[in-house]
Amino acid sequence: MNEYALSTWLVGNVEAEAAIRLMADAGFTQIELSAGWAPIVAQWESAPEETCARLADAGITVPSVHCPRMGRQIDLLDDDSRIASVQEDIRYFGLMQASGIPEIVIHPVSGGADRSDEAWAATPAQSRKSLEALADAAEEAGLRLAVENLGRDGHPGSTMASILELIDGLGDHVGLCMDIGHSQQAQLDLLDELQIALSSGKLFTLHLHDVDIDGKDHRIPGEGCLDFVPFLQALRDQKYNGGRTLEVSAAPAETVEERIDMTAAVRESWQRL
Ligand SMILES: [Zn+2]
Repeated sequence: MNEYALSTWLVGNVEAEAAIRLMADAGFTQIELSAGWAPIVAQWESAPEETCARLADAGITVPSVHCPRMGRQIDLLDDDSRIASVQEDIRYFGLMQASGIPEIVIHPVSGGADRSDEAWAATPAQSRKSLEALADAAEEAGLRLAVENLGRDGHPGSTMASILELIDGLGDHVGLCMDIGHSQQAQLDLLDELQIALSSGKLFTLHLHDVDIDGKDHRIPGEGCLDFVPFLQALRDQKYNGGRTLEVSAAPAETVEERIDMTAAVRESWQRL
């Protein structure tokens, strides 16, 4: 049976202990630590070993973390700011080593509609320099980097092919995170993108969420327009055994229990497929 991890973004508006209880009660046994402002992530940042031990007590393991917010600007034109962003990601490596988390999801482009053409033109080279530094540091720390697709309109980093180019030759510990909702927003063919990722042999993990008719992403599968069935069938047919994370955006504290139960129901229905 395929395991589906839950991104802690969903439980970002509740205290750490309540988040752990909610995730365990909903039957999640794996999580991706995500959203640095979430109490559960803040607690992990200040006490990584203890937090993962507490999660383990609740039956939850942590196969991956998401890079911190300040670590999502590794393509900036200004080298001082770019290097500061890389350092933020590397800061997480030590926390991961301390708590036995093997993989980090990295954003290769900072995106943003307000970026200039000049900044976009520099993105591949700047991001590549940063990814080289991150790959070296990750190798030394014995960690994997999963580089995630972003961007809506054909900019670098939006396709699996453009990410494969960015990470070419960086080592077997550097691979892909395919975010299906971001592929949808970039108006790409999801099955074609998946095929490119699978054939590369470098697909480490998946971010799974829906996109609604207004283009709003990180919805619970079923709330938007994506057809997940052919996608999941392709994963099964090609014996994909990497990570799968349900990455739903934060719910207000009043509705978090309802939202996590809805997400758990998706997990269960997919596990029955
Ligand atoms: Zn994602």
